[in-house]
Amino acid sequence: MKITAIQAHYVRIPYDMGAPAEEFAGLRFPSQDHLLVEVQTDEGITGWGESFGHNIIPATLKALECYVAPWFIGKDPTDINTLHRQAAQAFHIFGGNGVVVYAHSGIDIALWDIAGKRAGLPLSDLLGGGCRKTVEAYSSLMRYGNPKTVKRICAERAASGFTHIKLHEHSVEAVMAAREGAGPDVAIMNDVNCPWTVAEALEMEKAYRPANLYWLEEPVFPPEDHKGLARVRRSGQTRIAAGENAAGLHDFVDKFEKGAIDIAQPSVTKIGGITEMRKIIAAAEAHSVELIPHCAYFGPGNLASIHIVASLAKDTLLENIYANLEASPYGDAMVAKDGKVAVPHGPGLGVEPDMEIVAKYREGPIVRVD
Ligand SMILES: [Mg+2]
Repeated sequence: MKITAIQAHYVRIPYDMGAPAEEFAGLRFPSQDHLLVEVQTDEGITGWGESFGHNIIPATLKALECYVAPWFIGKDPTDINTLHRQAAQAFHIFGGNGVVVYAHSGIDIALWDIAGKRAGLPLSDLLGGGCRKTVEAYSSLMRYGNPKTVKRICAERAASGFTHIKLHEHSVEAVMAAREGAGPDVAIMNDVNCPWTVAEALEMEKAYRPANLYWLEEPVFPPEDHKGLARVRRSGQTRIAAGENAAGLHDFVDKFEKGAIDIAQPSVTKIGGITEMRKIIAAAEAHSVELIPHCAYFGPGNLASIHIVASLAKDTLLENIYANLEASPYGDAMVAKDGKVAVPHGPGLGVEPDMEIVAKYREGPIVRVD
């Protein structure tokens, strides 16, 4: 079996989140943007993947077109582990994190989709998690800023069945408003996206304590300061989550060895795809660190995350971004009902994109490498 062509579709979809979004993580989000990666083979099986993401997609697309996709043309898509290592080695001088790895991640996800389609099994089944038909989701809110809005949205999300809600707020007022809105029985997490020094993070961790956070996410800049993060974790009283900005397995192992985190959050569209994710799952288990993947997207990377979560040994939460898309190439496959998301049961990722919707929201032409 051979890879004959790789196509990329840059899709931009308007959305609504119940109130205006504020800038966070250095980004504005006028639409939910996705880079869908389509790997075609000589046996007629096509796999879909997704490469991160948001405002940097034009650069990821260029990396995919100029360098990463051409490397994969003519290779055997069933040889996933070997290809993953050889590709990572071929690309390593361009960095262990960033657009080249994002591009590689999208192709790796597509290879697993092909593997599932060849086997006639959903990906979760292929990964050893055939039993779960649904996974519990947490509602991940974008930033609202205004405490009144945060309170209202949290009340609405709790009423719609979520038992866990994640904020992206900085002010203590907004976090306390979330607690008021959600009530005492809903777990609340806060993701602050790397704003602080260790001293500032410790101060804020203390200030948030009345809200009884389930975890505090990425309190320290830079994300590579694992020793600093470990100091926050040791001196504070709140569980620490991080990992969406990590560079692969070895970066996670260093976090584990330094005691930096309670919860590991590898991101399948950023970290090197499902193949790298599987290694990190094993490493996290070996270090007794919980793993709850980062999943801030709505394409094949989200579907892959559903299957990964469904395959884990322990019931694990799935991140579910609260953004009602105007339309989705995947219908309601990623929409939570009563706080749960169904595991797609078709082969591979389990759902094929609706190409009419892809075409309607595509930004620019299809990029094809063959
Ligand atoms: Mg995060």
